Amino acid sequence: RERRVIDEVTKGLIIGGSVRDATEQRTFGVEDPSTGELLCDVADASPEDGMVALQAAHDAQPDWAATAPREREEILRRAFELITERADDIALIMTLEMGKPLAESKAEITYAAEFFRWFSEEAVRISGEWKVNATGSGRVLVMRQPIGPCLLITPWNFPLAMGTRKIGPAIAAGCTMVIKPASLTPLTILKLADILAEAGLPDGVLNVVTTTSTGKVMGPLIADGRIRKLSFTGSTEVGQKLIEQSAQQVLKTSMELGGNAPFVVCADADVDEAVQGAMLAKMRNIGEACTAANRFYIHADVAEEFTKKLVDRMADMKVGRGTEEGVEVGPLVEADQRDKVAELVDDAVQKGATLRTGGEIPSGAGYFYPPTVLSDVPTSARLAKEEIFGPVAPIFTFTEDDDAIRAANDTEFGLVSYLYTKDLSRAIRLSERLEAGMVGLNQGMVSNAGAPFGGVKQSGLGREGGTVGIDEYLEIKYVAMNV
Ligand code: ADP
Repeated sequence: RERRVIDEVTKGLIIGGSVRDATEQRTFGVEDPSTGELLCDVADASPEDGMVALQAAHDAQPDWAATAPREREEILRRAFELITERADDIALIMTLEMGKPLAESKAEITYAAEFFRWFSEEAVRISGEWKVNATGSGRVLVMRQPIGPCLLITPWNFPLAMGTRKIGPAIAAGCTMVIKPASLTPLTILKLADILAEAGLPDGVLNVVTTTSTGKVMGPLIADGRIRKLSFTGSTEVGQKLIEQSAQQVLKTSMELGGNAPFVVCADADVDEAVQGAMLAKMRNIGEACTAANRFYIHADVAEEFTKKLVDRMADMKVGRGTEEGVEVGPLVEADQRDKVAELVDDAVQKGATLRTGGEIPSGAGYFYPPTVLSDVPTSARLAKEEIFGPVAPIFTFTEDDDAIRAANDTEFGLVSYLYTKDLSRAIRLSERLEAGMVGLNQGMVSNAGAPFGGVKQSGLGREGGTVGIDEYLEIKYVAMNV
């Protein structure tokens, strides 16, 4: 079955509705991170191929913008249903190329499909404004129109959801697009493109460019005036470069960048619930999420209880290939990623942190790293500042709420913060003070297609999902009428 699902995926560039080879038929390999073995080869686009894809998106834009909202709604709705029907096959593709356990791949697919359902419902609700101006002598008409061809660049950690949450609103708004999936995990998006075509998406609306020459292929597209919008999810470092490049054409950008989420547990919190939430916030996606809890600030009164319970849960998790029954922790996505996680743990231990569980790389194939808990972590440890992107929980303690909030906010990032307390007024006061785009209040997961996802500070620009998610793909035009 593994062979069949991989064989069925389109391996070429998808441009203007047809499948093409890359220039000189260049390809690159996609690996299974649990074994390091090659799954298949896909087309490796050149800058010229990228420009052909842009031309296709540009050509398709006028007709697509003129389609009835109901038609766009129905395409998204059909695609939502097809994804749901085929969840088992898509989950297997995702697990093979990315490593996460099958159950987590399925959970991502449910989440990813929700963006299509949500934005199908938004497609028919794009509206404007009509009012009498202040002097009464004229009228103001405000309309919202598709921004134009979009460039979407997605990461490897949520191979489907990071795509649907950009593609969904772009389709709903009437924009065409070129999407470049991460080269570590291109197969899931290629599979999605086939599903969208089957759902009736016209040729040229979605063009897929897979490449390993990322900067060389994306640069000219961003510099070309025909792209009107760039939506990127990935590291802050790359995001900053892309914002700079976008300045040339004054592109509207959406940036979902790095995080460094604090997880604050107050003295009055329900410790069992906090541990449950911590498991989700830390271990979802093997810790490879920008929303992953990166720093745990636990009140001294409950710190030892919390730590012991977390250690028990973490030590008990089954590590292995994501396709195996009962596996809860798959491999990290590549060797570099594992090296970085190991380096951060070693640095913390060297500076005085206590290793409570994990910390040792298992022998054998695949890029596995065990669930790890560190306590007594000094603030000088690198992982107090850097995004870990792995299954490692560093625990710090505090005695005053003010200190916890100060420490939580002491970072250039501001994506999500988690807060555990049973006191309602403390919950509201502290939520207001946390510098983050999202707060998980007594819950370890915030992702929801119907809510605005995004960060402040260096975690990004713009919001994805919710009622505002479609605005990223629309321009506002105002007509002044003298009546
Ligand atoms: P991560 O590896 O954590 O997902 P990256 O920012 O490295 O974060 O990658 C996210 C996406 O951005 C991937 O699709 C990657 O190929 C792409 N990317 C990386 N460098 C560039 C660049 N210079 N220009 C455009 N896209 C890039």
